[in-house]
Amino acid sequence: MTAAMTAAELGLLSCHTCRLVSRPARGLGEMGCPRCGAALHLRKPASVSRSWALLVAAVILYIPANLLPMMKTSSLFGSQSDTIMSGVVYFWTSGSWYLALIIFFASVMVPLLKMIALALLLVSVQRRSRWQPEQRARLYRLVEFVGRWSMLDIYVVAVIVALVQLKAIATIQPGAGAVAFGAVVVLTMFSAMAFDARLIWDTRAQSHG
Ligand SMILES: [Zn+2]
Repeated sequence: MTAAMTAAELGLLSCHTCRLVSRPARGLGEMGCPRCGAALHLRKPASVSRSWALLVAAVILYIPANLLPMMKTSSLFGSQSDTIMSGVVYFWTSGSWYLALIIFFASVMVPLLKMIALALLLVSVQRRSRWQPEQRARLYRLVEFVGRWSMLDIYVVAVIVALVQLKAIATIQPGAGAVAFGAVVVLTMFSAMAFDARLIWDTRAQSHG
């Protein structure tokens, strides 16, 4: 065996609260941490189905997030509703191609890639894939890292609002798309949190039985 054993293989488990690694008593259904008393689990319970449920909800809300207006602009010259893509097109055609790229990348590509990455991780764990565990662990860390910076999308909206208000006397209201978009960000973060990255390594351990 080339790689290190997992703690589970050695009959050890770690506490989610205080990180104490302990050897549980055999045949004990409800296990508690000997130090802090928190419930102990070898792996997060129902990790894959929980992560899937949150991911599917995020995928569904990604559709209204892109189709419904992100914001409604009203000025003396009338009112206008903008979706993410119409905002991208507006900035692209008005010469602010860098802003168009930032919005497209942060608001369309990043959430999409994040959802694809989570689906890939979940499918590979469910199929007990032994394909590139190091790369998949790296992918998971990347998804978690991106999650922390997803508020970038909110900043993008704030920038648009500021730019529009500089150009004209206008009132801007967030549309239903903004609510759906925020939900997508939060749901993908929760989905990544529900996923137990240790599952990536379990299949390899079992193959050596
Ligand atoms: Zn503990």
